[in-house]
Amino acid sequence: MSEVYFANTKCRPNRGMLHKLSELCSRVGMREVIKERDIVAVKTHFGEAGSTAFVPVMYVRALVEEVRKVGGRPFVTDSNTLYVGGRATAINHLRTAAANGFTMETVGAPIIIADGLKGHDFEEVEIEGEVLKKVKIASAFVQSDAYVVISHLTGHEFMGFGCAIKNVGMGMGSRGGKQQMHSDIKPAVNRDRCTGCGECVKWCPAGAISLLDREKRKVARIDRELCLGCGECTVMCFRGAIQARLTGVLENSQKKVVEYVMGALKEKENKVVFFNFLINITPDCDCWNYSDARVVEDIGILASRDIVAIDQASLDLLNERAGRDVYRELYPNVDYVRQIEYAERMGLGTREYQLISVDD
Ligand code: SF4
Ligand code: SF4
Repeated sequence: MSEVYFANTKCRPNRGMLHKLSELCSRVGMREVIKERDIVAVKTHFGEAGSTAFVPVMYVRALVEEVRKVGGRPFVTDSNTLYVGGRATAINHLRTAAANGFTMETVGAPIIIADGLKGHDFEEVEIEGEVLKKVKIASAFVQSDAYVVISHLTGHEFMGFGCAIKNVGMGMGSRGGKQQMHSDIKPAVNRDRCTGCGECVKWCPAGAISLLDREKRKVARIDRELCLGCGECTVMCFRGAIQARLTGVLENSQKKVVEYVMGALKEKENKVVFFNFLINITPDCDCWNYSDARVVEDIGILASRDIVAIDQASLDLLNERAGRDVYRELYPNVDYVRQIEYAERMGLGTREYQLISVDD
């Protein structure tokens, strides 16, 4: 059974969320994980341009300070995205991060995009996954001595929900790695619904969508050979004209994300602390250029050294607070439990946990 520490959102003078975060660091054993002069990757998500629900900068800064307190040398990081958005190259990524409040001055440490200028800096790591035997992990993660992983609980179109497992698996893979994880999902256009607005064409990172003249109107068409399966178009089409063919492929994609976690955590035994933020919990992930209304009131922050236990505890707290199975309702075609089950089966942690409150 693993330990998961929990701070709720109830605060009073001299006992705010940053005080509680500091206590979570002590209780989870940050000092045992990070040794003097360790280079520590503080993995966060800077939020897509237009997103507003990502974990705010003051928490990232506080964790940077905690790393320093125990003698580590922190840098704040994420890897480039597969889709076009505002974070596909290090240049855009840093600009988007700055626009969302993350600069070297505000986080108190250098910001380094983990897979380099264009997402080509990675190292291949061998794993014993059921689907993959090698994964492409962004170099800066492989070369770090330890990680502090900051994850935000949200929904996700093919994982069902995203938190620590998704943040590490997808977020520590290079751009090529992300392509590998998405490659099974090939959407198709419903011509009856398509109005030919062309929005999807602008967002497709692979140039796989074109507008064809059909019966005196424009209709989108996807070239399946070119499609990377990133799923961007399925969300960007607000007419619901593009749907991913999920049957039979989702399980593979979810497994691949978990296998990327195996690669990212290889050689990092007892060198990682996970923090899950259950605040501003939205239906979609922070990679979109908007944040919808939260699905439930804020719950708090969790800390653990077990990636499986902390995600399981996060879901349990969410569903208990909401009184319903939130992401099953939002993504009925996605079995979100599969990612946790597979992660446990692959030896990444246990779903059995003890929730330890740091509140009075
Ligand atoms: S598929 Fe959707 S976004 Fe693309 S052209 Fe048709 S209506 Fe517009
Ligand atoms: S067509 Fe394929 S590559 Fe292009 S946005 Fe859609 S899923 Fe991504």
